[in-house]
Amino acid sequence: MIIRLKVATRLRIEFQDITSEVQKAVSSAGIKDGVCYVFVPHTTAGIIINEHADPDVVRDMAEHLSRLVPEAGSYRHLEGNSPAHIKASLLGSCRTVLIEGGRLMLGTWQGLFFCEFDGPRQRTVLVKAVADRQ
Ligand code: ZN
Repeated sequence: MIIRLKVATRLRIEFQDITSEVQKAVSSAGIKDGVCYVFVPHTTAGIIINEHADPDVVRDMAEHLSRLVPEAGSYRHLEGNSPAHIKASLLGSCRTVLIEGGRLMLGTWQGLFFCEFDGPRQRTVLVKAVADRQ
């Protein structure tokens, strides 16, 4: 079963902490031990695992990515959102987290972030939790 999480972004570039929503999805799936896949089915958004204790970490990341891939440039894509496509590709569209005792095995400071690069939009995150074989 795939669980679909809805993510509403409010800004053009926004990193939204979805750790608790993914944990709830795993809990509701009743998986005790296994693997959780978190997939973003969009071409201008990504998913990362990084520090969620200090919000400045993802702010710095968003700011640095924007310097790395500037909004203005010699892009050919007619839709005009090539920087968003490039940033999404740099971060990737899928993460895997192990599950033990019903909990996502993230480190103390780690969280899952949905990374919007072409917002604001209504987005979807797909979560698939697979149990170990008994
Ligand atoms: Zn495009």
